[in-house]
Amino acid sequence: MFGIAGQMLWVDLTHGKVEKRPVERELLNGYLGGRGINAKLLWELTDKGLDPLSPKNPLIFGTGTLGGTFAPCSGRMTITCKSPATDGYLKCNVGSHFAPELKFAGYDFIVVLGRADHPVYLWIDDEKVEIRDARHLWGLDTRATDQLIKQELRDDQIKVAMIGPAGENLVNFASVMVSIYRAAARGGVGAVMGSKNLKAIAVRGTGDISVANPDQFMEAALAARRAIREDEYCWTRSFHFGTAQGVIGANEGGTLPHKNFQDGFMSDVYKLSGEYVSEKFAHPEACSSCVFHCGRFSHVRSGPYAGSYTAGPEYETLASLGSKCDITDTTAVIKGSEICNLMGMDTISAGSMASFMMECNERGLLKDHDLEGLDLSWGNADAMLSLLEMIAHRKGIGDLLANGSRIAAAKIGHGAEDFAIQAKGLEQSMVDIRGSMSYALAFALNPRGPDHLTTECLAEFAYTPEVRQLAIEVSGSEKGVDSLSPEGKPKLVAWHEDIYSVSDCLGICAFTDTWSYTRINFENLATMFASATGISMSADEIRRRGEKVFTLERVFNVREGRSGVDLDVLPPRMFEPSPSLKGGEATLTHEKLGRMLQEYYKLRGWSTKTGVPTAKNLQDLGLNFLKEKFVRE
Ligand code: SF4
Repeated sequence: MFGIAGQMLWVDLTHGKVEKRPVERELLNGYLGGRGINAKLLWELTDKGLDPLSPKNPLIFGTGTLGGTFAPCSGRMTITCKSPATDGYLKCNVGSHFAPELKFAGYDFIVVLGRADHPVYLWIDDEKVEIRDARHLWGLDTRATDQLIKQELRDDQIKVAMIGPAGENLVNFASVMVSIYRAAARGGVGAVMGSKNLKAIAVRGTGDISVANPDQFMEAALAARRAIREDEYCWTRSFHFGTAQGVIGANEGGTLPHKNFQDGFMSDVYKLSGEYVSEKFAHPEACSSCVFHCGRFSHVRSGPYAGSYTAGPEYETLASLGSKCDITDTTAVIKGSEICNLMGMDTISAGSMASFMMECNERGLLKDHDLEGLDLSWGNADAMLSLLEMIAHRKGIGDLLANGSRIAAAKIGHGAEDFAIQAKGLEQSMVDIRGSMSYALAFALNPRGPDHLTTECLAEFAYTPEVRQLAIEVSGSEKGVDSLSPEGKPKLVAWHEDIYSVSDCLGICAFTDTWSYTRINFENLATMFASATGISMSADEIRRRGEKVFTLERVFNVREGRSGVDLDVLPPRMFEPSPSLKGGEATLTHEKLGRMLQEYYKLRGWSTKTGVPTAKNLQDLGLNFLKEKFVRE
């Protein structure tokens, strides 16, 4: 088949069997690839109420349809399962070079089912696929795992996706590290892999990918690459500083979390900025076929954390392990990021646990808990670092924290639930959404919880004249670029959801959507998809496919019994005033969010009472089969 490798690997760990199945053209047409096909498979393979850590929870690795081609930033992969953190839908998107390698080996998807009776790893060497003993790897960190697998298979070009001790110990925010650089981090995807006794997947592929219409495809892909390179913002900001470019701007706008979101501003933030990190510690690194090279790899050469090295740190990590804990020591953040990556643990949730504990400590709520001598005062970097290790190994209070802030707050009590910055069981990403109504709406709607990687609504901030124009056009309102106004935000959020969804299906990095807004659009995504696969697709049609995938993900949570306020929630603190915004008034209210949700539901054709997609909406999107199932249940 054109564009894709054409095969799926179905791995049954309980019985030690591997089967190869074709990828049906109809599935590719209906769900585009990657995230979309993963969502369809997850729906079919699960029933309501499934325990996320049971062997029946499938762990699905889906490469994007344009992975392994010349399309810009096209090396991304989506990993999908039911989340142990939220008990709902989970997809994690990750870069690196694993996805193209898998396609070169001949496979677009890996569906892992069951549980091995001892630790194993999967070795994919072109057409040869083996389940191998991994008892000697169990307990190792991700760096050692990566090295040992390459050594024993005698090939340093092998690409490895793996878990560390946090995944083995079922930490509910354990990540899957894809190489030692990149993490599929959120929602406990690493715990699901650990629950299957699957330590790693190693792949080596020597084939290639053919496209249906090479001339048209090369023209479209080259034009998209050039357009991104010629975008001044992309070139001057994203290329040099990566996501960390946002630290100073977020702080100035009052949206950088400080002291567990007690406010959105911190003085002396320069040492957490992309400018500082790039100058002092980092060299660039990029995923396959990337035009931006937004990644960084940082080394600490002196001071108490000398010798530490890690990917990033990204904006999210600088905020979660830094400003949110009132820490400005860059080297401590790099060390913390290194610990999280070695242990295989999400830096957002891990840092959130540390800052949550610091606020519990400030409020005197930890007297009944054995902290093993830790001084959890704000800004104590060594305490933050110790806490990370304790969580990964479930040691002392780390055993409680490894269950995430929703469960930890309920156990600590005394009102701790009010300042655990989580919703649906997922710790919120590092944007103070009180300063951005489109982020607030997007975080509430996101099926995996309050997080940025399903809908990053940066257009609202109108950081170039072109982006301003786009945001006004899409939102249908001049107020679309007023971040404290709810006006126009439902349309703006829906547009972002759809383009992110399409990009994830095609394996194109979502940063092409948010850093080069006016350069990558539904038109060129549709052209690249159609010329690669030979499946005709217009801009409107591809956008509807994106909407379809997002709707399917929402319906997964509806099948679990959620509706109305259970579907679209935010952490309680987000409705309190932030001292950094608008003279201390509450900028986000339940009334404001409710108004945006009502308008959004109407726009999508969902029930305005429950927020559940209607029968007509599902029929229009080609999702009739969902209706039958979730109504019956
Ligand atoms: S923009 Fe960054 S995250 Fe995206 S593909 Fe490129 S290097 Fe990877």
